This record gives sequence, structure tokens and C-alpha cells, in this order.
Amino acid sequence: MRTALALLACAVSLASFARAADRYAVDWPKLESETLDYYTSLIRIDTSNPPGNETKAVNYLKPILDRAGIPTEVWSLDPNRANLVARIKGNGSKRPIIIMGHTDVVGVQRDKWPVDPFAALRKDGYIWGRGTSDDKPHVAASLMTMLLLKRLNVALDRDVIFIAEAGEEGTSRFGIGFLVDQHWNDIAAEYALAEGGQTVSRGEQVQYVGIATTEKTPRSTRLVAHGTSGHGSRPRQDNAVLHLAGAVAKFQNWQPPMRLNDTTRAYFERLATISPPDQAYRYNHVADPAHSEEIQRYFAEHETNSYSILRTSIVPTVIQGGFRNNVIPSQAEAVLDIRALPGEDMNQLYEEMRRVIGDPAVEVVADTSRNRPAAPSSRIDSEMFQALERTQKRMYPRAITIPTMLTGATDNAQLRSKGVQAYGFGPIADESESELHGAHSDQERLRESSLHQMVQYLWYTVLDIAAAK
Ligand SMILES: [Zn+2]
Repeated sequence: MRTALALLACAVSLASFARAADRYAVDWPKLESETLDYYTSLIRIDTSNPPGNETKAVNYLKPILDRAGIPTEVWSLDPNRANLVARIKGNGSKRPIIIMGHTDVVGVQRDKWPVDPFAALRKDGYIWGRGTSDDKPHVAASLMTMLLLKRLNVALDRDVIFIAEAGEEGTSRFGIGFLVDQHWNDIAAEYALAEGGQTVSRGEQVQYVGIATTEKTPRSTRLVAHGTSGHGSRPRQDNAVLHLAGAVAKFQNWQPPMRLNDTTRAYFERLATISPPDQAYRYNHVADPAHSEEIQRYFAEHETNSYSILRTSIVPTVIQGGFRNNVIPSQAEAVLDIRALPGEDMNQLYEEMRRVIGDPAVEVVADTSRNRPAAPSSRIDSEMFQALERTQKRMYPRAITIPTMLTGATDNAQLRSKGVQAYGFGPIADESESELHGAHSDQERLRESSLHQMVQYLWYTVLDIAAAK
């Protein structure tokens, strides 16, 4: 009975989705030049952060929305770093959805680039430049979705809010931090779609659509070793450099224990279904006590992402101590880049780290200056996740949708911390394509076809979740 009801509900929702997509048919090839125009124009606006100057991007986007008759607001903590928020109203029967992209980009080392990073050069089916993947396709796709909703006069059950936000690349206080603190009532939503996912293809065939449902939380921590200063010619037992070195070295052999959550469990299970047998075996047995240790060792060596998503990770990145060759310093410090799993108890972890270090001369100190808020994972059985899966079935029927946990951080963390179910989707990258051409690289580029497919993917999903039934 329960199964029958579930099947019926599924059929009804599939049917209503089909109806919405039919009711609001889009001539996609006709839209490509318009999409490309917005996207390349955004790339040509240099919003390298620092300093950002995201207001230039807002000044480009706002008139486009104004001309379409879509209401906008511009809010900023710093006049040069504006955020744009546009809203198309629904009938209010459901809570709003946010579609979001960040307008800032990381800086460039110009002499390392094979092309002008702000020219949006089109070559061999790709568009090259800083921000081509991170994150101007999300801005362009969200803009196109807003324009289409308006042009086709789509009847909505919920408001659709487009946020073009500043400061994502390390200065969230100008962007999502500011909006969440100062304008929460203006952007409060049930769901959000933003960056963070990745669609992986083999040749022309999409293998899976990776949807980020959660991410690790940066919890930068310092180890501070104290000793007595003295002459470098006389060895001291309490030399701070030695105590620090001993403490740092402990994390070569000790990392917090493995812990799966709903996302990572589903990630390994689903990835196994499309992986070669030996890989699939590892994904299917990662939690099997008889094999787990060996598999984790394999991951540590060969699949650093798989290793990292299994645990809160502790990675030494900076070490500092001393100022003259013949002076023993009284203090030495190391930075540990700790990335916590959702739900990690940091105080308990610090206790455990102190026990592992086992040296009272070494302090473990939390550095809270650039932390993002802790946030629960977004659900993999929500209405939104199901809508994302339906869009995948529609666009890539031979692929699967896989929930992912990012090891890095995005502005979805701030939304999730306010209770929003936030999901990251992303451009298509070929599995053979290395990180060479990805986000933050000095050969950043995006396949043109991927841009257009992102627009469609976002459109079908927004229509599914927001169009009046
Ligand atoms: Zn980004």
C-alpha cells in the first residue's frame, strides 16, 4: 500500500513536472547567443578579489533585470562591493528558492596565463578566462532563468530570488555573511542552488551529476610551542622548535577516525555502480571492518578526496619559529588546516589532539578569524534533491545523480547554517580533464556546450520546484 502510494505520488509529480516543462517550452538554440553575451561580458569585468570591485558586475546586471521588469535591490557593506538581489514573486503557497552565483573571482598571475584572462576568448569550443568556471556560469545561468521566468510569465508557487553576491573568495563578510546578518528577512528561503557540484562526462556522455549537499568546515588551528630562549651553541631540552616539530609530526600517523554520513554513504554506494570492479569494491567495502583500514590506506595514497571526505582532516600547512641562526627562540608555531566533518565536536577533537601530542609545552589554539559557521548537511531525500534527480533523468537519462561532500568551503555554508536546504551544482568536466583547466587554475576555461547545459539544468529544476502545479 505504502509502495503503491509512493509510486502514485511519484507518477503525479513526474506528470506535473512534464506539464510545467511543456507549458513553458523554451527554444534553447535561440537563446545561446544571448546567454553567451551575458556570460562573456561578465568575464570581461575584472572582479579579482582582492579588491573585488563587484559593484561593476552589479552595474552590468541591474539594467538587464530592470529592462525586463524584474525588481532588484542592491545592498552593500562597502560601496565597491555590492550584492544584487532580484526577486520574482510566486503565490506564496511555498517558501522561496534562492539561485545564486558569486561575482568575484580569485586573482591571476597574468604571465602564467596562455591567454588574456579577462578577454573571454572563444577557442575550440571553449571559453577561456578567470571566472569561466568559478563562478560566472552560475551568475549567467541564474540571470537567464530569471529572464525566462519573466518572459514566459511562469505562474509560481514560490518566490524565486536571484543573488549575485560579492566576496565569496575569502571575504564572505561583504557577501553572504553580510546578507545573512543584515538582510536575512529579504532573502530567507527554503532551498538554494549555487556552486559546488560537478557534472562528470566521458567523451560526450555524462556519467554522473554530482550535487554538493554538504561540505567540510574550515577550523584553522595553531600549535604553539613554548620554551626558554638561549644561545644556539648550547642544546636545551625545552627548545620550542623541537617540541613543535615533534607535535606536528604526530599528524603524519594520526588522523581522526573515519565517520560516514548520509551524503558520503550514498556517494560511495552510487559511485560504485558506475566504477570499474576494483574501484567499486573499495567503495562498497569502505565501512566493512575487515577491509576498511586497507581501503583507507589506499585512499590516503591514491584518492585524496575519498580519504578526506571520510574524516575530519588535520593538515599542517605553515610552520614558523626562530629569527636568527644562533638563537633558540622561546616560541614556535604551526598552522593546522583542519577541515571538520558536519557535526564535529571541536572541543572534544582538541582534547584528543592534546592527548595525541602528549606534550604540555605545546598549546592547541583555535583560530576563529576566518571560520565559516557550522551547518548541517542538506537532505538527500528532499523535494529539491528529487527535482535535481528528475532534471538529470530528463537531460542525461543514462547518467546518475550522486550527492557529494566538498572538502573545500562555499557560501552555501552560511545558508545551511540558517536552515536553508542548499545544493551545489556545476559545469560539465570530462573525467580525463585534469584540474589544469578548473577553478582557480591559470588555464581556467569552460566548454561552451556546458554553459548552455547549465542554463537548462537550472531552468528545468527551478520550473520543477517552483512552478505552480
Ligand atoms: Zn566559487
